[in-house]
Amino acid sequence: SDSVNGVVKPRILLMGLRRSGKSSIQKVVFHKMSPSETLFLESTNKICREDVSSSSFVSFQIWDFPGQIDFFDPTFDYEMIFRGTGALIFVIDSQDDYVEALSRLHLTVTRAYKVNPDISFEVFIHKVDGLSDDHKIEKQRDIHKRTNTDLTDAGLEQIHLRCRQQHPFGSTQITEEESFYLTSIYDHSIFEAFSKVVQKLIPQLPTLENLLNIFISNSGIEKAFLFDVGSKIYIATDSSPVDMQTYELCCDMIDVVIDISCIYGMPNTEAGLPHDKDSMAIIHLNNTTVIYLKEVTKFLAMVCFLRKESFARKGLIDYNFHCFKKAIQEVFDVRVKVQQSRKLLNQR
Ligand code: GDP
Repeated sequence: SDSVNGVVKPRILLMGLRRSGKSSIQKVVFHKMSPSETLFLESTNKICREDVSSSSFVSFQIWDFPGQIDFFDPTFDYEMIFRGTGALIFVIDSQDDYVEALSRLHLTVTRAYKVNPDISFEVFIHKVDGLSDDHKIEKQRDIHKRTNTDLTDAGLEQIHLRCRQQHPFGSTQITEEESFYLTSIYDHSIFEAFSKVVQKLIPQLPTLENLLNIFISNSGIEKAFLFDVGSKIYIATDSSPVDMQTYELCCDMIDVVIDISCIYGMPNTEAGLPHDKDSMAIIHLNNTTVIYLKEVTKFLAMVCFLRKESFARKGLIDYNFHCFKKAIQEVFDVRVKVQQSRKLLNQR
């Protein structure tokens, strides 16, 4: 996989029928395009579009269907691509008839699984902005059921894609390993879904959560997120539940910080980013909440929510942050070293 400054980037493949919304998703999440501008996106006819974003923690590749990818075309090395892929996101247009999309999904999942059984398969039931809440849940259930029936019929029940798991005692609970997401580029759901997908690809997630837990409890902070600044995907948070509004506020804060630093910031030659590893910002809300943003690495920033009273002890927070930052660097350094030694072993 790709690696920048010692951080190994998880690779994600975005697939789906033509016009399902892949380019829009990519443009909105990774290139800050406003959702309404996607109406004028041109469809491309290239077989494979690659876009490895240099300013982000994740890397990307997009494939279009139908027709353009022929699994039987010997010149197209899909095996190699599946082998290097961490997650495969299949986008389904929920405002359209999805019979063909489901059969493409089935074909894609079975092919990819044969090459790389470790791929994490994710389904974005997309463009749900036009649907009522009941309708959304109904579509999600239907797509979930059909997908897994097809897989079971093909003798591949081991790649069961999870939705909501029926608890043995009757209550329904959402599992960590959910694979179906209701998304739209017109709200934050697309960023949320991406965050979940990326989190599954980070083997150190439990360590990161633990470090965040320790950090917030020692600093009087209510909630902390670790964000990929380039995409507003959060790659980890402490173990208290995520409230959508808090998440949206974080996204807004990052937008403000990026906009201000693009306009007034020092031009930074490194990777062309307007912010650097020492950037930070503080916003006081009128309800006595403070939002505090600090860069952790070139790609990652911490965004914290805390009360005004706790912010009075900023010195303590900054000291704890310093310790947190050191720990994070160690976590990623170890990972790179392990990967490097694995590579060496493989070469022998
Ligand atoms: P692609 O061929 O899969 O790359 O699809 P595009 O990204 O070109 O999108 C096709 C159309 O779907 C465009 O007109 C987009 O504006 C529209 N679209 C994409 N995402 C959404 C969404 O979440 N909601 C709605 N209503 N339309 C969307």
